[in-house]
Amino acid sequence: MDYFPLFMRLTHQTVVLVGGGDIATRKARLLVRAGAKLTVIAPEVEPELQALVENHGGQILLRDYREGDLQGAVLVVAATDVTAVNQQISVDAQARQLPVNVVDSPALCTVITPAIIDRSPLLIAVSSGGEAPVLARMVRAHLESLFPAAYGRLAAFARRWRAKVKQRFGSGDERRRFWESTLSGPVAEQVFHGEDERADQLMSDRLRREDAALTQGEVYLVGGGPGDPELLTIKALRLMQQAEVVLYDRLVSPQVMELVRRDAERIYVGKRRSEHALAQPAINQLLVDLALAGKRVLRLKGGDPFIFGRGGEEIELLAEHQIPFQVVPGITAASGCAAYAGIPLTHRDYAQSVRFVTGHLKTDNPNLCWPEMAVPGQTLIFYMGLLGLGDICQKLIHHGRLPDTPVALVEKGTLPEQQVLVSTLAQIAERVANSEVRGPTLLIVGEVVKLRRQLHWFGGEPGEKPGTSD
Ligand code: SAH
Repeated sequence: MDYFPLFMRLTHQTVVLVGGGDIATRKARLLVRAGAKLTVIAPEVEPELQALVENHGGQILLRDYREGDLQGAVLVVAATDVTAVNQQISVDAQARQLPVNVVDSPALCTVITPAIIDRSPLLIAVSSGGEAPVLARMVRAHLESLFPAAYGRLAAFARRWRAKVKQRFGSGDERRRFWESTLSGPVAEQVFHGEDERADQLMSDRLRREDAALTQGEVYLVGGGPGDPELLTIKALRLMQQAEVVLYDRLVSPQVMELVRRDAERIYVGKRRSEHALAQPAINQLLVDLALAGKRVLRLKGGDPFIFGRGGEEIELLAEHQIPFQVVPGITAASGCAAYAGIPLTHRDYAQSVRFVTGHLKTDNPNLCWPEMAVPGQTLIFYMGLLGLGDICQKLIHHGRLPDTPVALVEKGTLPEQQVLVSTLAQIAERVANSEVRGPTLLIVGEVVKLRRQLHWFGGEPGEKPGTSD
């Protein structure tokens, strides 16, 4: 971190602004919005700048800058077009230990001004440390769209109720939960729609309720997608930011875990074939126990929680204990891997249906209906199929699927390390045996794999094992 971010209170404080042109005017607009008293120094001053100063009780000195001008200032801004003058101001300010900002000259600054999204009292500041201002502005534009203007109203509403809420709840934890549920629920909706009276009414009702803060624990069963964090849903991200405890397993990528709330407790529950850190019933029970202790619990799963995710079992026990829960779908490995490997799962000419099949043959489903799966015109996706790969291919061929049916094995799909190995039903097992494929891998079987070559629609080729591509 090259700069320490902080927000400075300038109300009734003197800020010396040297310069009288466009740039100085731009700075002045912001400074007076923060309540600063301006001393503007310049031989000539634009009319708008002059008006700003006059309307906000500052002063204008129509002359060149002198060292003594910095007396009494809390902040110095240099916006002249003469480098030597800007330099002198920077030196003088630093000699007096005054924070100084020189427009467009990061080297002369001790403080820099961020790009801002003003939803006062909510204020978002974005900075690239002066290194990439255009990028900072792009981020700002993105945030502008995420936080509609009405967020200012919501922040003002929160400010208005802050003291009362503080009085009502002793503990910080209780207050936080109360606010989190208030600011993302019906009260917030009323504020967004400008119905302040109605919002106040709802808020009083909420505060009167016995159990207002004893927010019951709850569980979010969230699909974390196949790995690329950009494939998370907005809802997943919101709940990841909200939960106090997170149970995750090895399918959740480190990149996705990065987005979990920083101070959340993280519990690894394993799930590698060989390494059941916690057996499924123990996970189910842990979710219940944590929720009963009043926690907001995130059960973060790879892909989609309801596709080979045992999500059903986890919510069964929650329901039994009447613990509120939400299930948030995620992008399943099949969709993620197919898209990132450039293989459509269905196609008018090649596949009219697609099946997600467990490849964990022994324990999950020893009775797969192989003749049905061998029928052409469908795409088969095998999850957890690496160990039984040879077996799967043999059975499909045995039941009539052509030995040269194309297959793709996608390893670590959607992640930067993604590898795609393209082969045929007859050959894939041997090729895998000769390479270092580890998990997780997804097996895609069907004519659609052939389309892969034609579908490199943008830029980079997804990774391929050297010497093993099609
Ligand atoms: N609920 C998950 C699947 C869990 S089963 C989902 O919807 O995706 C675990 C299997 O998913 C793995 O054995 C592998 O076959 C597949 N898988 C999950 N993530 C994957 C990834 N990034 N790349 C390839 N396969 C993946």
